[in-house]
Amino acid sequence: MKYDHISLMDSLSRRVFLAGSLSPLALATAQQGPPREERVENLTPGETPTIALNHLGFVPDARKLLVVRIVKEPAPTEFTLRDIGSPPEPFRIVKPLKKVESDFGPCAVGDFSDVTREAMYQITVGQERSVPFFIQGDVWRRTLPKAVGYIRAQRCGCEVPNVHPVCHLDDARRRDTGEHVDVTGGWHDAGDLRKWMSATMLSGFALLTLARNLGESWDRAGSGLALLLDEFRWGNRYFLKMQDRDGRVWADTAGGVNGDNSDNHWTDNKIGTADDRYINTAKNPTIQAMFTGMQAMAAQAFRSTDAEYAAQLLAASQRCWEANKRGSRSAELAWWARAAAELYRATGNDRWQTEAVALGRRLLELQETRFVGGQKLVRGFWRTGPNQSEPYTDAVHASLPPLVLLELAETFDEHPDAKRWLDAVRLHLSEYVAPMCARSAYGILPFGIFIGSPTPESYRPLAGELTYRYFMPVRKQYWWVGTTSHLLSYAYLLARAARVLKDNAWRDLAYRQMEWVMGANPFGACLMTGEGIRNPYPHSRFVGLIIGGIMNGIGGNVRDEPVLDTENGYDWRTTEYWSPHNAYYISAVSALG
Ligand SMILES: [Zn+2]
Repeated sequence: MKYDHISLMDSLSRRVFLAGSLSPLALATAQQGPPREERVENLTPGETPTIALNHLGFVPDARKLLVVRIVKEPAPTEFTLRDIGSPPEPFRIVKPLKKVESDFGPCAVGDFSDVTREAMYQITVGQERSVPFFIQGDVWRRTLPKAVGYIRAQRCGCEVPNVHPVCHLDDARRRDTGEHVDVTGGWHDAGDLRKWMSATMLSGFALLTLARNLGESWDRAGSGLALLLDEFRWGNRYFLKMQDRDGRVWADTAGGVNGDNSDNHWTDNKIGTADDRYINTAKNPTIQAMFTGMQAMAAQAFRSTDAEYAAQLLAASQRCWEANKRGSRSAELAWWARAAAELYRATGNDRWQTEAVALGRRLLELQETRFVGGQKLVRGFWRTGPNQSEPYTDAVHASLPPLVLLELAETFDEHPDAKRWLDAVRLHLSEYVAPMCARSAYGILPFGIFIGSPTPESYRPLAGELTYRYFMPVRKQYWWVGTTSHLLSYAYLLARAARVLKDNAWRDLAYRQMEWVMGANPFGACLMTGEGIRNPYPHSRFVGLIIGGIMNGIGGNVRDEPVLDTENGYDWRTTEYWSPHNAYYISAVSALG
């Protein structure tokens, strides 16, 4: 995943691939950075399919909505739902479609929530047929082994049978001193061979979250908890090696020496030869907090089966805590608060409750509880930091501040602040998430709200000075990606909130974020390889398809219209796999139970 940088060579080679030759104009564009809208403009939805329905289907008691894009008049007014299995009696019902105005253009929406009977169905609108889908209790749960399988396929430092031969036994040498340090193990990230701590630690969190939420029953085929814990241990052998002697943690291995793709290659597995990759010894503040929290969480998971390993992880966690200062931005406060909560769970020591509560209070102070920007439509979102008034957005951890407050409320449920944490989450969901999701027929949460138009492209007017975009700005910096993690991290928040706040409206909204990723989108494309249909071919140039891999997904152009590479363009911004997507998917599905 080219999260940080993209190289000139990478731009050039992709351009040559796309264009067949390198024109002077293409060369100039490549030298100036990545292509902007010129190719992306071609990736907007076509006339068909008009049916947007998630390809997995629905659990029986879920809300079930059908969205049909109106591409010409007259708009359809009804749809037919048929059991296409082998029903003893034919099952066919006709239901109305209601025309609605929606961002992304007018749509017709049908509701078949009252159909709870388990079967395989198909919907017809005029001459167009939907993907066949199920109403069944485990339509989401049964995808978990595939999503976990993606993590296993990304193993580094060993052979992964049927994926790749043994790799990177020579990882790696320090960028600063050139000294070789053994950092073998871990997982490749994305469609890459690079090992970002930020992205791949999320795979560790996901495995632990799945184990915590569903236990032995996570895989109904019976592979058991041991599979999750073994997989975690594989990743963690790398994470532990990335902790420096001072207790702080390095940023990545093979991320690219000049912010480029130079380390993104297979090696000869021999230490000391020219192809050895580099360790980035920078110490990013958020990575410190993530590492601390993950090790403390893992210490709990291994306590009963391997007490010695659990003690080692707890010690690593505490060393990292002590070696670092707490930051003041929303993201850092949230990750440190999460870390303190996990340390409390791991030790029962009141010190960690005190730390978590103090961090939670600072995080509460960064919530915008007033109506700002001359409007009275939305509030309850987070500011980026104490001196950064712009609303918090994050392509990966979109829901992080409220998610951590929920975590605190669950961990310290008897603390007097628990009510304040839950009120903050309620405010965020009721007065920010719900009204923003209501702006499109698809029910997805826009990427963020903004003050005015901070970059030279279209921002949708909201109210007063506030604007919003469904997709990342594409002219802010040279990189942008589709919003899969943004949506799935909100699905995880909403799923947990439904349980803690005992309000099924949030469960319904959680499903809608996931449904967009799994096919209920204007392209009718399922973004997980091995599920649904119309999957784009992923940008995965080392190992190709990985069953269960989830792509960056639908992004936007300068007009904030949805774009997705469905034409084998190898567009990494929309079709590359990325580990955070799988992590939030696994977490959300496990929280929905
Ligand atoms: Zn490798």
